[in-house]
Amino acid sequence: MLCPFCNHAETKVVDSRDTKEGRVTRRRRECEKCSARFSTYEEVEMFRVTVVKKDGRKEEYDRKKIEAGLERAFEKRPNAPEKIEKIIGEVEYALHERHVAELPSKDIGNLILEKLKDVDEVAYIRFASVYKSFGSAKSFLRALEKLDGSGE
Ligand SMILES: [Zn+2]
Repeated sequence: MLCPFCNHAETKVVDSRDTKEGRVTRRRRECEKCSARFSTYEEVEMFRVTVVKKDGRKEEYDRKKIEAGLERAFEKRPNAPEKIEKIIGEVEYALHERHVAELPSKDIGNLILEKLKDVDEVAYIRFASVYKSFGSAKSFLRALEKLDGSGE
């Protein structure tokens, strides 16, 4: 980290503290040459995208909402926290790879469903029904039938 005052390359950290619930670390640095003090901020890179809802309203992507939906779907299922963490990680990675600023909420929902299908079929059905991705009760039942006898 170059000193902003004299461009000297050697600076030492004199203080470090977390802010914003631990997502940002503020470091107080001191230049070893001119002794000037300055601050740097280190932030966890968060996945950011604008979600366009079905009715056209837009909102910031909120990991907590996805988490809450998955927690409901995974209620009393084995290894739920690990599975939820993995799914969200994979979904965010896939969405990030698209390099777009806006995404329809439907795309995110479908991606989650895709991952869920492989991970936990019960959670998949619960999530699908909550998010009404089935066009009708009939298609919902068809999906249930498809899963019948698949080891669950
Ligand atoms: Zn300096």
